[in-house]
Amino acid sequence: MLNHRIYNFSSGPAVLPVPVLEKAREEMLSYRGCGMSVMEISHRSSQFEAILESAKQGIRDLLQIPNNYQILFLQGGASLQFSMIPMNFLAGGGSADYVITGTWSEKALAEADRCGSTRIISTKKDGGYKAVPTQEELRFSPDALYVHYVSNETIHGVEFTYDLDGHGTPVICDASSNILSKAIDVEKYALIYAGAQKNIGPSGVTVVIIRDDLLETAPKNQQSILDYRNFAEHGSMPNTPNTWGIYIISLVCDWLHAQGGLASMEKRNKEKAALLYAAIDSSDGFYAGHAERQARSQMNVTFRLASEGLERKFCEEADANGLNGLKGHRSVGGVRASIYNAFPKSGVETLVDFMNDFAARNS
Ligand code: PMP
Repeated sequence: MLNHRIYNFSSGPAVLPVPVLEKAREEMLSYRGCGMSVMEISHRSSQFEAILESAKQGIRDLLQIPNNYQILFLQGGASLQFSMIPMNFLAGGGSADYVITGTWSEKALAEADRCGSTRIISTKKDGGYKAVPTQEELRFSPDALYVHYVSNETIHGVEFTYDLDGHGTPVICDASSNILSKAIDVEKYALIYAGAQKNIGPSGVTVVIIRDDLLETAPKNQQSILDYRNFAEHGSMPNTPNTWGIYIISLVCDWLHAQGGLASMEKRNKEKAALLYAAIDSSDGFYAGHAERQARSQMNVTFRLASEGLERKFCEEADANGLNGLKGHRSVGGVRASIYNAFPKSGVETLVDFMNDFAARNS
C-alpha cells in the first residue's frame, strides 16, 4: 500500500505527474549528489539558481513567451494577485474593466474595488455562471487601464475557448486552472498569472508572466514586496522564494516537454473532457452538466444529480471506489471532476464506467 495511488479529481492542490514525484523522491536526500535536498539548499546557491532558470525557461518554451515578457515566481497564491494587480496598476487613478464569469472573477473584482474604480463590462451571474461572453459581446471602456478576466472558472467549470483581445486595452488574465493545458497566444496578454497548485506544481508559488511595457507603469513607491518591478529586477528573489515549489515546476515543465508540449496536452485534455461530457449527455438527464456547451471547461467538469442526497451518495460511493475529490465546491454543490494535465485518461474512463453503473442502479 505504500505506493498506492488513487484517481485524484481534486481541484487543487491537485494530481501531479507520477514521473515528477518519482524524480523528486529520487533527488530528495541528495539533489544531484550535492548532499542536500532542494529544500535545504540556499536560494543563492548555483544549484538553486539553475533550478529557477530551468523552471523559467521551461515555461517560456512551453508557452512560447517572447523576450519582452518577464516570468516571475511569487507567493501569496493567485489571491494576492487579485490585490497586487490593482495596487500596482489602478490605485494611481483611472478605471479598470472586469469580466465576471464566476466566483474567482468576483473575488478579483472585490479586491480591485478596494483600490480604485472598476467597471463590470460583462457578467454571467444572472444565468448562474454557466457561460462566458463572446469576444464580440465585450465592449471595453475607452479609458480602461486594463481588462481583467478569468480564463477558466474552477468552481463553475466554464472556460474561454479564445484568448481575449483587448483591442489596445492591456489584458490581464487569471489562468490559474488552465495554464499549460493548451497553447495560447501570449502576445494577446499584458499579464497572465496562475497559482501553481493545479496544472504547474504545488501550492505556495504563483507564476506571473508580465509584459515589459505594463511593468514599466508600476509605481516606483510601491511596498517592495508588492512591487512587480522588484521581483523582475531581482530575478524573482528579492526575498526567499518557494524553492521547493519552483523545483517541482521545473520538473513538471520537463515532463510536459517529454509529453510533446502543449499541443499534445491540449489534444489529450480535449479527449478526456469529451469522454466525461459524453457520459453526461448520454445519461437521459440523470446527470445535468452545469455549463452551457460552448463554455464547457476542459479542466473542471461540473454537473448535478437530481438531489443533494443523490450527489452525496455518488461522491461517497465514488470515493470508496478510488475516485477521490469529486465533491463540488461548497459554494455551489454538485459534482466536479478536475482533470488537469497530469490526470490520466484511465481515471476518466474509470469515472465514466462508474457514472454509467451508478445511473443504472439509481434511476
Ligand atoms: N483563481 C482561480 C481561477 C482559482 O481556481 C483559485 C483557487 N482555486 C484562485 C484564483 C485562488 O488561488 P489561491 O488559493 O492560490 O490564492
